Amino acid sequence: MYSEVVKFVHNLYGTEDVVPLHVPCFNGNEKKYLNECIDSTYVSSVGKFVDRFEEMVAEYTGAKKAVVCVNGTNALHMAMMLVGVDRDDEVITQALTFVATCNAIHYIGAHPVFLDVDRDTLGLSPASVENWLVKNAELREGNCYNIHSGRRIKACVPMHTFGHPVHLDELIVVCQKYHIELVEDAAESLGSFYKGKHTGIFGKVGAVSFNGNKTITTGGGGMLLFQDEELGKFAKHLTTQAKVPHRWEFVHDHIGFNYRMPNINAALGCAQFENLNDFLANKRNTAERYRTFFSCYPNIEFFSEPKDCQSNYWLNAVLLKNKNAQQDFLQYTNDNGVMTRPLWELMSRLPMFSDAQCGDLTNSEWIADRLVNIPSSVIL
Ligand SMILES: *Cc1c(COP(=O)(O)O)cnc(C)c1O
Repeated sequence: MYSEVVKFVHNLYGTEDVVPLHVPCFNGNEKKYLNECIDSTYVSSVGKFVDRFEEMVAEYTGAKKAVVCVNGTNALHMAMMLVGVDRDDEVITQALTFVATCNAIHYIGAHPVFLDVDRDTLGLSPASVENWLVKNAELREGNCYNIHSGRRIKACVPMHTFGHPVHLDELIVVCQKYHIELVEDAAESLGSFYKGKHTGIFGKVGAVSFNGNKTITTGGGGMLLFQDEELGKFAKHLTTQAKVPHRWEFVHDHIGFNYRMPNINAALGCAQFENLNDFLANKRNTAERYRTFFSCYPNIEFFSEPKDCQSNYWLNAVLLKNKNAQQDFLQYTNDNGVMTRPLWELMSRLPMFSDAQCGDLTNSEWIADRLVNIPSSVIL
């Protein structure tokens, strides 16, 4: 059975060589814009590609403002600061995520709380958040506090795993009820929509990544998305050393950060962005072909986008029957020229977060024992 999977993937990608999990695709204006950028000498922190890239992404996602960052991780760090997470606050997130989500929380000196995901989204479960808050939280003077640790619970960071949107409507209701700021880790979900609206613009701040393995890349890069234009302007200020604009004087009015994406990376981003819709159509088509193929194998379930959502299918995923089947699948495919990989180790199991508070993680553990990502690059 696994040999048929290997044959299918080789056929899909038209090669007998090793099929990687995800590689970038540069078949547009990348070289042209990079040359233009170099010829202009504006390769660094200012330039027209930065502005253009921000405008393109804002328009596409429906954000009122978009602000580039050097990568998705520092976009998340900035997001934590912008919503007012302070040292010793608690921040709710999912155990099933990439480590950058939790690192960003930790950079502030705040404490992550790991809760469960839903099986139909792979992302933070509104019911798990609500159940945990009912048992552990109370509202005092407009703030939410953990009745056991005494700490303030300031923010909630869902992650749209592999581009599949979480149940945002339900999550928003819970966050509002408990006065908790919503920050979306939309690192993986550029091109994913929830009820017709782009992910990353539902919370106070959203963070996107343009790392080399994401749907489009700037080499390394990230973007912050805002509905609150003033907050977006403040983000721009903080990510650019908080310099007070002046033609020659150097005055700074906050502790700022050098988190601004260089123009040369934005040049790559503009070219990549022009192909985003083609990439998305291509990836959705690949997902459809996988779905059809796996529908003949009752022991392998292809993971499809949640109801009312349009996913970017950044990384396709299948669910095996149990951990043994998962290990066999990983072994066979990786031995036979098809790169596949399991989920990230759950955050609650990493040494740095071993003391963190956790809710019930039944679904996260269930998924971790079964899920495998399969090759998902754009097919030329
Ligand atoms: C890729 C990713 C990030 C971090 O992005 P970088 O640009 O690599 O720093 C954050 N969160 C998640 C869930 C990611 O997949």
